[in-house]
Amino acid sequence: NRRYILADRPVGMPDETHLKLEEVEIPEPGPNEVLLKTRYLSLDPYMRGRMNDTASYATPLQLGDVMTGEAVSEVVTSNQPDLKPGDLVMGRTGWQTYSVTTPENLTRIDPSLAPPSAWLGVIGMPGFTAYVGLLEFGKPKAGETVVVSAASGAVGQVVGQIAKMKGCRVVGVAGAEDKCRHVVDQYGFDACVNYKDEDFPEQLKAACPDGIDVYFENVGGKVFDAVMTLVNNFARIPVCGRIAHYNQTSLPEGPDRLIPFMGQILIKRLMFRGFIQSDHSELLPAFRQDMAQWLRDGTVSYQEDVVEGIENALTAFQGLLQGRNRGKLVVKVS
Ligand code: NDP
Repeated sequence: NRRYILADRPVGMPDETHLKLEEVEIPEPGPNEVLLKTRYLSLDPYMRGRMNDTASYATPLQLGDVMTGEAVSEVVTSNQPDLKPGDLVMGRTGWQTYSVTTPENLTRIDPSLAPPSAWLGVIGMPGFTAYVGLLEFGKPKAGETVVVSAASGAVGQVVGQIAKMKGCRVVGVAGAEDKCRHVVDQYGFDACVNYKDEDFPEQLKAACPDGIDVYFENVGGKVFDAVMTLVNNFARIPVCGRIAHYNQTSLPEGPDRLIPFMGQILIKRLMFRGFIQSDHSELLPAFRQDMAQWLRDGTVSYQEDVVEGIENALTAFQGLLQGRNRGKLVVKVS
């Protein structure tokens, strides 16, 4: 069994001193347990936060723990009646090639609705995040302008496509020309702006001639600053993530902008709403049904970035934190 353990807590970008790849015996399943062979491992930005020893919405990993992560696996041996060898399941089984767990930690996946890897992406947690955040908290109305950052990624690509279905003008923000082209050509975004361009604020303004009604926040930093100059009265801002800050080691210098920011919230009657997708599991059945339909009829398409081999997981994860991924990042483990 090859697995990554948290060997040390990173300050800034994690590397091989923090996530150590080790080889151990394949575990034996006990009573009521199953032995799983990992097929696909999901790599997601939240994993960076779990490596810190700070209070958050989830408990941090302890040193020596197997690195956390969702995976799609195949049942190898089963000591309980509901799962049999060959069944495909999904669960938080971590960065490892084999795992042992009990059935209540697993969800059976239905490969007739979407291919196995898509259960970690478009019809899995990131797709659900887009659905909940946009529809419950963004509440987009036809004719409004929706802006989404990290637009070409696992969450962003779904946000934009659902917003198009709602009749909105959709503007993406991404960090590379090919990512911007992809969201316009493949997902029907109306425009996409590269935040690394020097004149990014001007480009964003030109792409949002009627201002911004919904900003789906995935990144923070300079993208957030530019968006805030363009938000309309009563704009909704679902706060999903802040990836620009996940490896930050100190607060930026400069004037404290909290007072004008609070003033803008009041004057423009803005609605900021932080959310964590797992708090909304009552919406999962509706999401799965809607997404399966959208995939079938082609309303939603998606892009995956598949990396081969568990030994490449760390490099791929570093790439995710630097924008090297193209779409939903997964590791094909076996
Ligand atoms: P992506 O597939 O979008 O990959 C991450 C992307 O973030 C990179 O490709 C990169 O794209 C962008 N990025 C990285 N560093 C920076 C930076 N310094 N500034 C701006 N952009 C950066 O990831 P996901 O779609 O899985 O996640 C998107 C966001 O959603 C994350 O913030 C994540 O934490 C959050 N999330 C929140 C959930 C919740 O329940 N609240 C659940 C799931 C995800 P680019 O080249 O465009 O910069």
